[in-house]
Amino acid sequence: MRLNFSFFILAVFLFSYSARADFVSLSTTLSSFSIRTENLGKENLQIISENFEITSSSGTELQVIVPSNRISELMLLAPFAHMLDSDISSGPRSRIIEQDLRQKLFPHLPSRKKSNPLVRDVYHSITEIQSLLKDFQKNYPDLVEYFEYGTSPLGHPFMGIKISDNVTIDEPEPELMLTAATHGDEIITTEVLIGLIENLLAGYKTAPRLAKMVNDHELFFIPVLNADGFSSQWRYDGMTDPNRSYPYPENPSALPSPSIEAVIDFFQKRDIVGSLDFHAYGRLVMFPWAYSREHITQEDYNMFDLLTTSMAAPNVYTHGPIAEVIYVAKGSSADYYYWQKKTVAVAIEVGLDKAPPVEQIENYTAEQIESTWRFIENF
Ligand SMILES: [Zn+2]
Repeated sequence: MRLNFSFFILAVFLFSYSARADFVSLSTTLSSFSIRTENLGKENLQIISENFEITSSSGTELQVIVPSNRISELMLLAPFAHMLDSDISSGPRSRIIEQDLRQKLFPHLPSRKKSNPLVRDVYHSITEIQSLLKDFQKNYPDLVEYFEYGTSPLGHPFMGIKISDNVTIDEPEPELMLTAATHGDEIITTEVLIGLIENLLAGYKTAPRLAKMVNDHELFFIPVLNADGFSSQWRYDGMTDPNRSYPYPENPSALPSPSIEAVIDFFQKRDIVGSLDFHAYGRLVMFPWAYSREHITQEDYNMFDLLTTSMAAPNVYTHGPIAEVIYVAKGSSADYYYWQKKTVAVAIEVGLDKAPPVEQIENYTAEQIESTWRFIENF
């Protein structure tokens, strides 16, 4: 009964009152379930792994995250699944939602904007990320250009910054795209990307290695790819898993979610030779294919293997093709970019948490620095 009711609330808000979308996510919970694989057919296991997020597996037990409106779907596939936690949404992120709502409802209250963006006492909201990106442009006008490439269904900007020397000119340099928060609840990835940007810009004048990375490339950072999901503590883009919505060789006419449609358009208009897509979590550095256990061409496989071996060395991450390292996932970013333009598309699962305690943000960032620099220097 409760299920039907929350779905009703969700539908009403989603289709009639989209301006109040933040309340939608507050009425939709995410639950965690435990599933024993010996009770499951292989086919159902495959469907579950493609449609839900598996957070851990130990022996014959899987833990799966399920939005409240899809619990019945899971129960059809795995009747013996049992609920571990009916609402996993508490944690650092809930504080941001509360703050965002507070700002909307009481706009006269003082803003939380921090004077020093390097000091992080809390995760940033999407509005704060936008200010940070604009501040980068203001503080480094020769190196940073803020851009927007669309607007989400809920009115949030699809935004990013370009970093390069002669930043306003489209120079013939390798173009790389670094993205975070494709899954809107993997909020640590946004902070990591912001941290990487800060390191790159702060060291430009003093560290020749960083200057060379900036001067010799055109770097496009998109810290909040799934703007709607991110702004409402939600993995999905609307009701779609964005990282299962890219077209891929078996389904070239797949319909991408809004944020994916926008980034695809951005990608297609440019000449992106390398893409680094940050997710959380799992301590993994991965490459195509995700949709199939078949290998990409031997030549490309060797190239990806060499690159990810090098990237995974400093932080001792596991590396390999997505379908082998995690599971088969159809419609993901790395497959699309590689399939479309032979882009060197790498996906990273950072750390061991989607939203670790704020004190750990800097460690999470530090863990990606050398790995990311090696990725950039590959081009
Ligand atoms: Zn993810």
